[in-house]
Amino acid sequence: MYTRVWIPDPNEVWRSAEIIKDYKEGDKSLRLKLEDETVCEYPIDRQGSQLPFLRNPDILVGENDLTALSYLHEPAVLHNLKVRFLESNHIYTYCGIVLVAINPYEQLPIYEQDVIYAYSGQNMGDMDPHIFAVAEEAYKQMARDEKNQSIIVSGESGAGKTVSAKYAMRFFATVGGSASDTNIEAKVLASSPIMEAIGNAKTTRNDNSSRFGKYIQIGFDKRYHIIGANMRTYLLEKSRVVFQAEDERNYHIFYQLCASASLPEFKDLSLTCAEDFFYTSQGGDTSIDGVDDADDFEKTRHAFTLLGVKESHQMAIFKIIASILHLGNLEIQAERDGDACSISGQDEHLNNFCSLLGVEHSQMQHWLCHRKFVTTAETYVKTMSVQQVVNARNALAKHIYAQLFNWIVEHVNKALHTTIKQHSFIGVLDIYGFETFEVNSFEQFCINYANEKLQQQFNLHVFKLEQEEYMKEQIPWTLIDFYDNQPCIDLIEAKLGILDLLDEECKVPKGTDQNWAQKLYDRHSASQHFQKPRMSNTSFIVVHFADKVEYQCEGFLEKNRDTVYEEQINILKASKVKAERLESVRSARPAVKAANKEHKKTVGHQFRNSLHLLMETLNATTPHYVRCIKPNDEKLPFKFDPKRAVQQLRACGVLETIRISAAGYPSRWSYHDFLNRYRVLMKKRDISKNDKKQICKTLLENLITDPDKFQFGRTKIFFRAGQVAYLEKLRADK
Ligand code: ATP
Ligand code: MG
Repeated sequence: MYTRVWIPDPNEVWRSAEIIKDYKEGDKSLRLKLEDETVCEYPIDRQGSQLPFLRNPDILVGENDLTALSYLHEPAVLHNLKVRFLESNHIYTYCGIVLVAINPYEQLPIYEQDVIYAYSGQNMGDMDPHIFAVAEEAYKQMARDEKNQSIIVSGESGAGKTVSAKYAMRFFATVGGSASDTNIEAKVLASSPIMEAIGNAKTTRNDNSSRFGKYIQIGFDKRYHIIGANMRTYLLEKSRVVFQAEDERNYHIFYQLCASASLPEFKDLSLTCAEDFFYTSQGGDTSIDGVDDADDFEKTRHAFTLLGVKESHQMAIFKIIASILHLGNLEIQAERDGDACSISGQDEHLNNFCSLLGVEHSQMQHWLCHRKFVTTAETYVKTMSVQQVVNARNALAKHIYAQLFNWIVEHVNKALHTTIKQHSFIGVLDIYGFETFEVNSFEQFCINYANEKLQQQFNLHVFKLEQEEYMKEQIPWTLIDFYDNQPCIDLIEAKLGILDLLDEECKVPKGTDQNWAQKLYDRHSASQHFQKPRMSNTSFIVVHFADKVEYQCEGFLEKNRDTVYEEQINILKASKVKAERLESVRSARPAVKAANKEHKKTVGHQFRNSLHLLMETLNATTPHYVRCIKPNDEKLPFKFDPKRAVQQLRACGVLETIRISAAGYPSRWSYHDFLNRYRVLMKKRDISKNDKKQICKTLLENLITDPDKFQFGRTKIFFRAGQVAYLEKLRADK
């Protein structure tokens, strides 16, 4: 039998070949036969250190746990996932403690109620890999270990995070159904359509893309019935409220409301179709294939009602949404030489805005176009250019929307709150995955920073588990060296790191994005994770664990400051309509301190704090990881693009886990299973002995000469990479 290997390929990423001439030391190439029977010479260096990756024996292909593979490397992982996905339509595969989920882009009959019951109470290893199996494992461990649990879902946009998180929640709602009829499970599930309406939007990558991170904790009582839930959200993409790229949309709720504008109860909102409003039409097409916004609006309202949000409060929410649309349509006219401008007192949109929010018309009209400056000596008022007015107006719209978003989150949390004592919880984290675009800005920076933190949490956990398993099995181990991304995290969040310097620059009266860039170059050029691009003085590169990303500095300062003009906020605060005074609802929150500049925390600062809190929470729970993979960019059912898959496997740390496992003893067999499989390799007289452990020892010491290649634990035998493949070969040759 020839040795089968994987060689790099520009399209397939890896392709299979056979070595048809034995390799001798000093050879400069290998003679290979490809699958299409062509023969080629594959160059290698003199030391033979770049020999191609070896293929796994066929019996291991299609394994539902990748760590069962004997050769653990990228081509093996990719091949296995692909075979499972394309040949048997299995979208789930374990990779040690990680569940890999490949988006099928097709509704599969594997999520019904009876499937939930089939997984409930079962052991993970006895069933096909499934999101329900992970959920069951978390539920079981919560009861067994009396410990809080987390399910951490990650992956790039469109990979299936939100869908997975929803299935996990549905599992808990079903198996943890409360005995009393408080309807709490239904309420927990109803939070999804609400959050999607206000926090999801159509992007070029995903028609229902979440533009915020979410950690929802489902609370259980002593008998492990659901009693309530609580949600924390992370960094909503506010810029979308005032700007949408081509083919993208603003948040769904705007279109839902416009599609329902003709309902009699919404007459006062003075809305028309979404095409008529600047804030909802910049992306072009305002509809989504297969989505009926008016229908979805009914679902959103129903969910609000289920959560006990009163009709009057719902109306208040819709008024605010409508007011933002009117704000976006103000007609701003330049005056004089362009250093001043005005908005007509007759502007219908200004009228609508003011009446919907109950704010003073003439004040608003004035302060939209003027700014107040306070110095020690005097206070004076200045006019603004059209561009300045537009910017200030957009900042106001973003501010109002963000306040509304937070207010709704708070309301949902109130509705899911319970006074019953919580015994334990399971948290589900659905957070934006690592991302890199043509142009990367502050948002990508924060998102990638979050992923860097999550990756570290993951590495530490996997590493810890691995060591614990060795201890439990009482096998000697030496510390495995693993990639710790602390230096990259330090670069971002430590003292005088990127975020610190950004905050400092924001405080300097004449601070600019460019000056900040210069300070970064001065301070961090020597860092291993930081680079200055050769051709640019306004961007910087961070070498993240997943990829190098170049960030454009332009706009960082403004986004980090996130200032809204005080005068405009003061008018809102004085709003006559009580329910609209969202400020008061949130009076204790940092964002409100906009008025109090000294204490205002920057967006970066707040984000850093919220991530620290998240890490603390996650570290106090037992984590379970789900890595979603988007198999193609065309959203086609069961199409597997190996290039895209590999990119994501690298980015989401699956390969890194494998590296950690491969550095230790990746393959494990119980003594019993090992004997069953390799009985044929034994001499008759050895088999008769009763002590299974001893039989295995005798056998292995005969077969594998290097004692470092395996270890005998209490219940299992541990093998270094490649050993099981070797045994398989012996077995096949028998
Ligand atoms: P984003 O980061 O943009 O929020 P996401 O990872 O949350 O993306 P989802 O919204 O969960 O992605 O999934 C995108 C789409 O992929 C879904 O709307 C659905 O059409 C499809 N999809 C995802 N998972 C599944 C699944 N398990 N079965 C069928 N279709 C799925
Ligand atoms: Mg999502």
